[in-house]
Amino acid sequence: MMMTGVLAITAGCGQKKSDFKYLLDEFADLKVMRYTIPGWEELTLQQKEYAYHLAEAAKWGRDIHWDQNCKWNLPIRHVVENILENYKGDRTSKEFYQFTVYAKRLFFANGIHHHYAEDKFFPECSQNYFKSLMEAVGDGDKCAELLDVIYNPNTLLQRRSTSTDGDIVVLSAGNFYEGVTRAEVEKYYESIEDKTDETPIAYGLNTKVTKDANGNIVEIPWKIDGMYGPAIAKICHELKLAAACAENDIQKRALGLLVKYYETGDLKVWDEFNIEWVKDTIGTVDFINGFIEDYNDPLGRKGAWEGYVNIKDHKASERSVILSANAQWFEDHSPVDPRFKKKECKGISAKVINAVCLAGDSYPSTPIGINLPNADWIRKMYGSKSVTIANITHAYDYAAQESPTSTLDEFAWDEAEKAFYREWGSWADEIHTDLHECLGHGSGQLLPGVATTAMGEYASALEEARADLFGLYFTADPKMVELGIMPNKDAYKAEYANYIRNGLMVQFTRVELGRPNTEAHMQNRKLIAEWCYEKGAKDNVIEKKVRDGKTYFVVNDYEKLRDLFAQLLAEIQRIKSEGDYEAGKYLIETYAVNIDPTLHKEVKERYEALNLKPYGGFINPDIVPVQKDGKIVDYKVVYNDDYLKQQLDYGKNYGAL
Ligand SMILES: [Zn+2]
Repeated sequence: MMMTGVLAITAGCGQKKSDFKYLLDEFADLKVMRYTIPGWEELTLQQKEYAYHLAEAAKWGRDIHWDQNCKWNLPIRHVVENILENYKGDRTSKEFYQFTVYAKRLFFANGIHHHYAEDKFFPECSQNYFKSLMEAVGDGDKCAELLDVIYNPNTLLQRRSTSTDGDIVVLSAGNFYEGVTRAEVEKYYESIEDKTDETPIAYGLNTKVTKDANGNIVEIPWKIDGMYGPAIAKICHELKLAAACAENDIQKRALGLLVKYYETGDLKVWDEFNIEWVKDTIGTVDFINGFIEDYNDPLGRKGAWEGYVNIKDHKASERSVILSANAQWFEDHSPVDPRFKKKECKGISAKVINAVCLAGDSYPSTPIGINLPNADWIRKMYGSKSVTIANITHAYDYAAQESPTSTLDEFAWDEAEKAFYREWGSWADEIHTDLHECLGHGSGQLLPGVATTAMGEYASALEEARADLFGLYFTADPKMVELGIMPNKDAYKAEYANYIRNGLMVQFTRVELGRPNTEAHMQNRKLIAEWCYEKGAKDNVIEKKVRDGKTYFVVNDYEKLRDLFAQLLAEIQRIKSEGDYEAGKYLIETYAVNIDPTLHKEVKERYEALNLKPYGGFINPDIVPVQKDGKIVDYKVVYNDDYLKQQLDYGKNYGAL
């Protein structure tokens, strides 16, 4: 244990701390994990207090999102909560277990539709059994109505309808529209939108559309004295408390505007808020709170309620600052023809954050990167914030290591390769991503007269390959150790082995059998791996081995592989700089598209046998005030490990609607 602990410190994010369990629960096609909050202890008391109130504000929006997903979700959840808390009958039976799985899925999806696929899912226990549970806890009067919603295979089938012949507004089970058709909604917005406005508000972002008693189309605003009022009042209360302990005046002003927006429903104020929010790049604590993404609306207008509190990961953010500061060194030392190099080169530094609280549309399933605000004109005039969420990415990695099966175990050749990857893999992978994003895409230049569109339909895959190769080449450079970014001169090998394994094999698990490889990032990886496999064949740089009927690709010579990466980078840079369309086409068509059908079948079968859960989500740590002599002296982070308990606690403590 001590040994692992020491390693954990040296390896930073690369090595899982042995005593913390990330993977908590698995059911249906889902897994539930938890995450840690690195950096919390370094916050001042004021920053912790600020984050605490922002997190409270985030949790108070939970019911809004449930109701937005479908108007039956909250009544159904209340019944399920009642059963889980109060049912006194047999809890060991198969049917009760099946009911519990349904409850867990319901909580995961914030409603009766799958969080990703958006289709209604059904309990495995019988309707009669469900009815008996409801009756046993005093909810018998609700059975007829709610059980029909849950079990009827002909109604409310999709949260957001994807029908091509029906009315997607009428057919969607989501609660953004009621009693109106698509044509009516579109005509309504047509009539109120000012098309000449260069700074337009996000029409319809924060309302439900329906009809009044006279049959006129009306919007019911989501605001403090409108729909969702009780939840919004709680949110505003916490936002005001947060404003009182904000880190700086920009945050204070932003929060003031957000409260004003929730009070008035005025979308102009929402824009003003976003402009302030984008300006705050100096604070450590940051947040998202509001009606944000419009993916759940069939017409792409209504914002799903979302809350997100995070703190800046100064150390990881520093890494991209170091890379950016040395951008010219990398450009000068890149293995491409000097004619294609930039004389003056600037890197991009992205902010790396750690999540503190996930809520609404981001809970339990959450993104690992975010770029906001969504209004194009605000992005153009004031910029946007682009963040990657480190602790969530790490939790995914660590949880995968805890799983009894993994793609690494199945597809890596031997124990040494696996152990080496476990030690350095996620670290090296992150550095590769940093190089790709901060420097790779920005490197190189076109020759005069070459159009940026010269590569046509092959542009994205070639551009991703160029950035990936730049990253692969420099991940192995001694300069990276010198800059303190790579821990030692060998760690890069973990990324090389993994990249080849993935590019030649593992990634095809995501392609349907018999189909070609079409996605740009996947094409890029196949191109690089296949090209190096072929060009290195005479020196046996990458060796194909077969054991017990299973295929493996093993890297024998890492230095020669690096050399091959350099050659291909030089060639792809030449192609881009000269606009050599035919050569680009040749590379993609020859190496990136066609998957060997026998290998493809083998890979799919081996992957399916692993029985891995495709979707993941998280529970939040609790932030608990610590009192001494009636005063709050600290905010402690408590890591829970009970998914259902957190869901039930949230229902009790943040039930506003
Ligand atoms: Zn890229």
